[in-house]
Amino acid sequence: MSPEPRPYVPPEIRRRQRDAEPPDESHLRTWQRHRPGETESERLERVYHSCFRCGHHEDDLAALDAHETTCRLLTPDEDDE
Ligand SMILES: [Zn+2]
Repeated sequence: MSPEPRPYVPPEIRRRQRDAEPPDESHLRTWQRHRPGETESERLERVYHSCFRCGHHEDDLAALDAHETTCRLLTPDEDDE
């Protein structure tokens, strides 16, 4: 637990900060990147339900877990040679 309370930042200001300093998403897979019209929480929710290897979406997290254990699809940027 952090002893310092997090200051409240209005969404409008946050958006302005984000515009000023766009987050570096180059390390993210295409499906993990922010999509136009999507809020950050929507993005996180989507990524949370997506296979980290191939981006396969599964509403059921147990099913997603089963998928990720067997998913062998590697994207080219993972083969970093
Ligand atoms: Zn997958």
